[in-house]
Amino acid sequence: DEASMQKKEAELAKKLVRRDGTKMTLAQSKKLSQLTADNAQWEDRQLLRSGAVRGTEVQTEFDNEEERKVILLVHDTKPPFLDGRIVFTKQAEPIMPIKDSTSDMAIISRKGSALVREIHEKQSMNKSRQRFWELAGSKLGDILGVEKTAEQIDADTAVVGEDGEVNFKEEAKFSQHLTKGEAVSDFAKSKTLAQQRQYLPIFSVRDELLQVIRENQVLVVVGETGSGKTTQLTQYLHEDGYTTNGVVGCTQPRRVAAMSVAKRVSEEMETELGDKVGYAIRFEDVTGPSTVIKYMTDGVLLRETLKDSDLDKYRVIVMDEAHERSLSTDVLFGILKKVVARRRDFKLIVTSATLNADKFSNFFGSVPIFHIPGRTFHVDKLFSKTPCEDYVEAAVKQAMTIHITSGPGDILIFMTGQDEIEATCYALAERMEQLISSAKQAVSKLLILPIYSQLPADLQAKIFQNAEDGARKCIVATNIAETSLTVDGIFYVIDSGYCKMKVYNPRMGMDALQVFPVSQAAAEQRAGRAGRTGPGTCYRLYTQSAYDNELLPSPVPEIQRTNLGNVVLLLKSLKIDNLLDFDFMDPPPQENILNSMYQLWVLGALNNVGNLTDLGWKMVEFPLDPPLAKMLLIGEQLGCINEVLTIVSMLSVPSVFFRPKDRAEESDAAREKFFVPESDHLTLLNVYQQWKSNQYRGDWCNDHFLHVKGLRKAREVRSQLLDILKTLKIPLTSCGFDWDVVRKAICSAYFHNSARLKGVGEYVNCRNGMPCHLHPSSALYGLGYTPDYVVYHELILTTKEYMQCATAVEPQWLAELGPMFFSVKD
Ligand code: ADP
Ligand code: MG
Repeated sequence: DEASMQKKEAELAKKLVRRDGTKMTLAQSKKLSQLTADNAQWEDRQLLRSGAVRGTEVQTEFDNEEERKVILLVHDTKPPFLDGRIVFTKQAEPIMPIKDSTSDMAIISRKGSALVREIHEKQSMNKSRQRFWELAGSKLGDILGVEKTAEQIDADTAVVGEDGEVNFKEEAKFSQHLTKGEAVSDFAKSKTLAQQRQYLPIFSVRDELLQVIRENQVLVVVGETGSGKTTQLTQYLHEDGYTTNGVVGCTQPRRVAAMSVAKRVSEEMETELGDKVGYAIRFEDVTGPSTVIKYMTDGVLLRETLKDSDLDKYRVIVMDEAHERSLSTDVLFGILKKVVARRRDFKLIVTSATLNADKFSNFFGSVPIFHIPGRTFHVDKLFSKTPCEDYVEAAVKQAMTIHITSGPGDILIFMTGQDEIEATCYALAERMEQLISSAKQAVSKLLILPIYSQLPADLQAKIFQNAEDGARKCIVATNIAETSLTVDGIFYVIDSGYCKMKVYNPRMGMDALQVFPVSQAAAEQRAGRAGRTGPGTCYRLYTQSAYDNELLPSPVPEIQRTNLGNVVLLLKSLKIDNLLDFDFMDPPPQENILNSMYQLWVLGALNNVGNLTDLGWKMVEFPLDPPLAKMLLIGEQLGCINEVLTIVSMLSVPSVFFRPKDRAEESDAAREKFFVPESDHLTLLNVYQQWKSNQYRGDWCNDHFLHVKGLRKAREVRSQLLDILKTLKIPLTSCGFDWDVVRKAICSAYFHNSARLKGVGEYVNCRNGMPCHLHPSSALYGLGYTPDYVVYHELILTTKEYMQCATAVEPQWLAELGPMFFSVKD
């Protein structure tokens, strides 16, 4: 009843005295009681603390609240070039990589693993995600044998040079150094690298293959994974003289593969990485003037076609892992087809695992297909008898059973991502411990090795290491081990049946990684990994009937399921005017293209007839998502590009805030000291600037609970973007500490992600009314009240839709900068 409510409120209000003695208003206490009701204690604490830390006066009530308000009208204007065509404000449903979203496997994939949650809880990993540079001292770090070496500590505290002097090759060399001299495999131990090369299946057809390449301009090469396509083909081309007048390029859909393979090949060729053999991934170029074999991500090559549409520097391009059908590979197909027609001296080799070869051949005009004879052994495929509710739990059990009861041979487990892999490793280690302490006789060792893209290179390289005598290796991998990386000696594969895929999520208005059942083709690939060195077994954690009825025959290409903003921008800049006519191997749904064009028009990158504007032309120059590129360029116009550059760089690296679970309070307080109350973006800027004024010191980072590696990466990204600005002759202007103008630049690029206040920390998207929440860690709580309008970088979906990185904006700005959506009511 009312009386008790009032009493409660009065009590609450009493508690709401900040450390500086100021009190909260009743309205604020109401908001807070709402919060407490939501049980959001952390948010609560943040709110209480905020005033205290900075001692700011908190005032939300104005004499005439109504007068102050700006009423925003929301509408929707379509560009003329879309006249008569249906466009959806929310992107149309993409092609989903799933047969039936009500099937058993679909339901299980949405539910996730209970074991993973349990372990999370134990480690409270969901609050402070263990990043790889935090592994030392953690349980997973122990499993992996991560120790902080004196060298690392040195490196962490070293003072590095001034802006722009960062050595990008440092990291690569560092990881190379760490792994040098480590044992690789039994086979590797007994044979030299040259002997190993000759043992690969591709070696037996080397001369024949080179002959076919001489006779054809385009060739499709098909071979089992591990036959030597990726590591050998480039070297054969080099040996056959193709590098005397040009570079041999080899594209990879995955960054990890590009790095790891380049390193391997540099070893085989006995050259320093970055010398004759190098690699390039976004924001990291480890090549030099003498590089003749260059591994790179397909995205990097795609960007190179912008600068040099004929790719004159390359004599041969090997498009590796074409079966993967990544977005950039698919676009490259269409572009390279034209290069082939224009340049007679250019050769294109498309390599693929066993799938899809005919399709590739037909696309290039029925070019020959060269088969590398396989050397595979029979693999027994065993299905689960009943649907497996928790595949992580089931995989752990299965691995333990194999280890205890089956003969020698290493185990490979397929999981969907970092979280599951860490949890699996953790659970395996725990059960091994239990087993050892309870067993009467000796238990043989199990070497548990994770691999996923965010794992640092030196830990990734461990999967190729040989286990000590009598020990068994158990590799827990994402689908990176499906075809990109091959580890010899696997006899047992445990296939969860799921993988993570990027799919456009119309609800969130952006691409999101989601778990889906794999395709039949992918399941076959996974099983095949057990038959490389001898007959093997594959344990499928799903039923035969699920395989037959629920799995798609082959994966849906990325181009048909993701946002095409970047691709449209790229193609437009290649003067491909009618995108609907572009030579796609599998065209994306037409609405997706139109929709992406609409989004680019909203940003001002396309004009009313659908061609690139001046702004659009400049945006293409940056290897950034369109809104980030726009933010930079508006920063130029507003005279604060120096500040925006830092923010963009900080947004391009993982979070730099470090929150160890045993020192959560302390680290929260440290983080709050950086808060710029009206903006998370400006908070990032503040962190970077303070780091800079402390000579980019590592010990300073440690003292302030910041990841030095993350900040250094941001500094690298910054200096690379700076180079692009220099080539565009854009001067570096600064607004000093007048940061309102920076918020305006942010608003100009993210007004499509604007939200209006609904409750404490609770917002709704201005345009579609979708709820979105301020993240508990947001600096905006530091205001003591939450602003009426914000724009956000992106939404992350956990228990709620959280706005990742938000900034308070004036409603007038929305009307000024996003007039196609907003206007102010007079
Ligand atoms: P494919 O591309 O046909 O799948 P690869 O050229 O990737 O084959 O692999 C050939 C061989 O080289 C495999 O036996 C694999 O184990 C080995 N290999 C590849 N990368 C590395 C590495 N970084 N360290 C050790 N061995 C490697
Ligand atoms: Mg390969």
